[in-house]
Amino acid sequence: MIDYLLQNKKLSIRLAIGIVVIVLLTVIWTNVIRTPAYVVIVDGEEAFVVKNKSDVADTLLSIQKQQAKPNQPKLELSSKIDYQRTFASRGDIISGKELEKIIRDTVDFTMAASALIVNGNPIAYLESKAQAEQLLKKLKEECAVVDDGEKLISVTFAEKVTIAEKSVSSEQVMTFDEAYQLVTTGTDKPEKYIVQEGDNLWLIARRNDMYVDDIMRANQLKSEDLQIGDELILVKSQPYINVVAKVEGEKIEVIPFETKTEIDKNASGVRIKQDGRNGEKKIVYVATKVNGVLEEREVKEETILKEAVARIIVKGNQITVASRGGGGSLDWPAYGPITCYYGRGHTGLDIAAKAGSAIKAADSGTVTFTGWQGGYGNFIIVNHGNGIVTRYAHCSSISVSKGQQVARGQTLGTVGSTGRSTGPHLHFEVLSGGSFQNPLSYLR
Ligand SMILES: [Zn+2]
Repeated sequence: MIDYLLQNKKLSIRLAIGIVVIVLLTVIWTNVIRTPAYVVIVDGEEAFVVKNKSDVADTLLSIQKQQAKPNQPKLELSSKIDYQRTFASRGDIISGKELEKIIRDTVDFTMAASALIVNGNPIAYLESKAQAEQLLKKLKEECAVVDDGEKLISVTFAEKVTIAEKSVSSEQVMTFDEAYQLVTTGTDKPEKYIVQEGDNLWLIARRNDMYVDDIMRANQLKSEDLQIGDELILVKSQPYINVVAKVEGEKIEVIPFETKTEIDKNASGVRIKQDGRNGEKKIVYVATKVNGVLEEREVKEETILKEAVARIIVKGNQITVASRGGGGSLDWPAYGPITCYYGRGHTGLDIAAKAGSAIKAADSGTVTFTGWQGGYGNFIIVNHGNGIVTRYAHCSSISVSKGQQVARGQTLGTVGSTGRSTGPHLHFEVLSGGSFQNPLSYLR
């Protein structure tokens, strides 16, 4: 029995020694004894160590196979890979899943892609030429906005746009939607904003120098209601590609009647001698729309369908003109937040409105000036009679001409940022008897 126990103890000691020896040998085998291997040099830099060159080649093939999509150009290796013989400890040799990961991190692949080239600069890369063509077609279709009575003459891009085959890093190739977002808004990484208590779309737009319409479109909002915590994409659109559509149109327009005043020394008060009646004309025009928004309109032909009949007022010598002028009060010429009030050296009212939106005549009258006027940029002056004149500055386009009669609410031009202006807005002035007035006391 004792013998047996002794025997057993000896066995245990032998077993322990055996284990220690095996562990030591393993440590020596993997760390001290060196084995022939290869240093893999990627683009001139020592990257990692493998046992055989074929380990790298096999892994590269496997990666290319995994990422290949049907009917698409396959990935090409673009990094230069060199090998250098070495002796490495087994612990430093990389293989299997670890090797695949390190190759993905250090080695570059390229693929043949279709580049959208705008004015000589590649803007986005798509997987195929068909996709690039589809994107350009979509842009044209969306922006060729035709109103009633109009027909499309041409749709072009403002920029020189071409498609070219380019070999690029596979990471640069975008999906159709990513490329579309980039081309139409100028960014593929839009800013995000979390709606706070007390926010509304107007406030958010004002703070970010944007328009409510832009925010609604970018976020596909159906209404202006916001919930606290909603995430909004704030994209200030600066499209890489602008679509220019030319249309030819025909429509009936109102010819506003004039008001003539006759003085009768013997009369007292004011009386209407003849009622005014608006006339009608048919116009044929050519218009240019950029990204679907009217930018310019040129009248080609005008046919009077019905002459206007002037209103004739007979007035006594002594009647003084009401300070608010003919029509009583003025209509708002544009809609949007007021960004600068009248006073303290500011001669008008600044109304922030989307570039290209209509500027409307505040009242009926006669256009007495159109054209460039220094810091006012494109400038329109309308005389409403009775000493009341309104003036409209920074227009992006003017659609009336000097001497033309305009009706209240008739479009005079479009909001822009010409002249001394930091962004699209209408600078609106009201003059009475030649001196500036606060427009707010005239607008209704
Ligand atoms: Zn102003």
